[in-house]
Amino acid sequence: MRIAVLSTNRSLYSTSRLVEAGKERGHEMLVINHKHCYMNITSHKPSIHLKGEEIKGVDAIIPRIGASISFYGTAVVRQFEMMGVYSVNESVAITRSRDKLRALQLLSRKGIGLPVTGFANSPSDTADLLKITGGAPVVIKLLEGTQGVGVVLAETKKAASSVIEAFRGLKANFMVQEFISEAGGSDIRCFVVGGKVVAAMQRTGAEGDFRSNLHRGGTAKLVRITPEERSTAVRSAKVMGLNVAGVDLLRSNHGPVVMEVNSSPGLEGIESATKKNVAGMIIEFIEKNARQGRTRTRGSG
Ligand code: ADP
Repeated sequence: MRIAVLSTNRSLYSTSRLVEAGKERGHEMLVINHKHCYMNITSHKPSIHLKGEEIKGVDAIIPRIGASISFYGTAVVRQFEMMGVYSVNESVAITRSRDKLRALQLLSRKGIGLPVTGFANSPSDTADLLKITGGAPVVIKLLEGTQGVGVVLAETKKAASSVIEAFRGLKANFMVQEFISEAGGSDIRCFVVGGKVVAAMQRTGAEGDFRSNLHRGGTAKLVRITPEERSTAVRSAKVMGLNVAGVDLLRSNHGPVVMEVNSSPGLEGIESATKKNVAGMIIEFIEKNARQGRTRTRGSG
């Protein structure tokens, strides 16, 4: 097959591993920088161009769309879909999971365990917002943040009110979430491919940080997950309509709760913590499922 990885940088670990794994399995692999693609969107001749040439003959794409370029990146994925090219994660599914509020609302509707969460933009009643989420300590998150930036733990009601006031001043969307202290600064990343958890790791934050992001100095190790965690991860990916997803869970006293479902989960942390060939599993999934024109929306709204 001719498989394209949509990525802005071919030397990124995840991109180069996917290329390597595809070649190992006998495929022709190319990296397309979606940022530089331009398109003819007219329906009788949808096409994608790059550096003066039309992109042709691609059987499947693996979108690796960074959060900062979601809008344009998903438009490029959609264009491939219009051309009948199979995308391992569909544009609608990527968009669904990228919008954190929409994603949590959809997960909640399907009965997936979530930390008690309140959303707000400019609440007129900070005290009541805190009350409906169970009161301090709470975690307050800026919606636009990634990799733990804009995620604040407010241990007292006073601290929480000041952070909310500050976020309000920024005119940003944010959420106020029950602090799962029993998670002990760790979370679980379940890597889902084709409806199965193929690898899972536990990430623990640097000393003194409740955030376990690897980019913030956290460490990762292989973890055995419970059947409940496994089914929560699989169901979450399904609700989003994602074939490839990184589902982040916290171990709470009331079972696994989902923080986020990531549509372009990184491969470096998970492959080194679990020693599994996750890139190879993604390619294998494509081999079994890619068909011309086979894209449909399987998520839940
Ligand atoms: P980002 O998407 O920016 O990484 P997250 O929502 O994943 O932000 O939060 C970053 C980290 O903070 C998580 O990996 C987790 O370790 C910790 N964390 C986030 N929300 C909570 C919570 N409600 N209770 C306890 N820890 C949390």
